[in-house]
Amino acid sequence: MSLITSAKAYLIDIEVETVRTDAVQAFLKQETIFVDITTDDGLTGTGYSYTIGTGGRSVLAMVEELILGLSGSDARNVGGLWHRLFASTRATTVGAITSLALAAIDTALWDLRCLRAGEPLWRLAGGARQRVPLYDTEGGWLHLSTDDLVTGAKASAAAGWPGVKVKVGKPTAVEDVVRLRAVREELGPELQIMVDANQSFSVSEACRRAEAYRPLDLAWFEEPMPADDVAGHVALARSTNIPVAVGESMYSLAQFRDYLARGACSIVQVDVARIGGITPWLKVAHLAEAFNVDVCPHFLMELHVSLCAAVTNGRFVEHIPQLRAITNTTIEIADGHAVAPETPGLGIDWNRDAIDDRRVS
Ligand code: MG
Repeated sequence: MSLITSAKAYLIDIEVETVRTDAVQAFLKQETIFVDITTDDGLTGTGYSYTIGTGGRSVLAMVEELILGLSGSDARNVGGLWHRLFASTRATTVGAITSLALAAIDTALWDLRCLRAGEPLWRLAGGARQRVPLYDTEGGWLHLSTDDLVTGAKASAAAGWPGVKVKVGKPTAVEDVVRLRAVREELGPELQIMVDANQSFSVSEACRRAEAYRPLDLAWFEEPMPADDVAGHVALARSTNIPVAVGESMYSLAQFRDYLARGACSIVQVDVARIGGITPWLKVAHLAEAFNVDVCPHFLMELHVSLCAAVTNGRFVEHIPQLRAITNTTIEIADGHAVAPETPGLGIDWNRDAIDDRRVS
């Protein structure tokens, strides 16, 4: 047995490491909701979840409600606990606040599971291979000039990274194309270029932009339309040979099922916080594998490096460092790959003093 004796939740704000803008929003601060769960065998697992600037207190309130029922439960039964907590939130599921709250608890339970086993997350969750290719997003924000984009892509290529993401969604298609063409012409055909519209286009405009982007040989077209427009994504996927990537704005396994079954995407970007934790993240990854679709998760590289390394269809980790202010070490990068940590647990080396300094609740 490994009975839960206490669970504590708290919220901190982490300042953004750089200005980040896309077609619909800016990253204001990382509201980070932590959960520490302690068991009677003396272990404490730490999990977390996040927002990019709004709703953090709502997530914290949901977490505080959910953890009231954890005391005395056997922390080893992670799948059962996830399902029990989910089932207790029928009135607010499926929804972002509840999924983000479940994630903070579920990742703490997985930390405990890995600590108890003395194994790193990447191995306990599947153990496919320890290194996963990395691509950069930090050099591709929408406010950056074309020269900045080229400079960022050159730095990534010089470091041996296989890809870069460039935000799209300028007022006209030609503005996007000019920026992308500059990167492609300067860097040559080898560099993988991903583009991301952050759900900003209508169906017709997404199809039109995909046609405009076609000569640029893009690795994928991410979130071209609102995530609830599955039919729009079906139409786009049929009209273009650019892979369509979705998932960072999806909050349940069934949403991914709908996209995959209808052929509406060919890359899934499931976000471990927004899907509700490691337990459902792995279900989505395995579901995608059954459709011969790769997983290239959104953000949270410190967790996703281990999850991508766990599954056979984890293809890329996204480079957006945002935990450096509250961790003692950052993820290892070697030869264009992110290397999953070998330390038992989630493998994130928290700086507890830095966390305490940023507490807001
Ligand atoms: Mg995105």
